[in-house]
Amino acid sequence: MKQAIHPEYKKVAVTCTSCGNTFETGSVKEELRVDICSECHPFYTGRQRFADAGGRVDRFKKKYNLK
Ligand SMILES: [Zn+2]
Repeated sequence: MKQAIHPEYKKVAVTCTSCGNTFETGSVKEELRVDICSECHPFYTGRQRFADAGGRVDRFKKKYNLK
């Protein structure tokens, strides 16, 4: 690699804003924040969890009489 033209790739702490989980990864940034991570994503947990913004899911359910 050419010297001095690449940003420094270092270890950073990633914070998940959904479950508060933290883990380390490599990045050129100082810190990272993610909305969802492997600890709370339904694909990994096996649980259904809606990222519900403003109760839209509830309103939809009410409208169509769904539980
Ligand atoms: Zn998470």
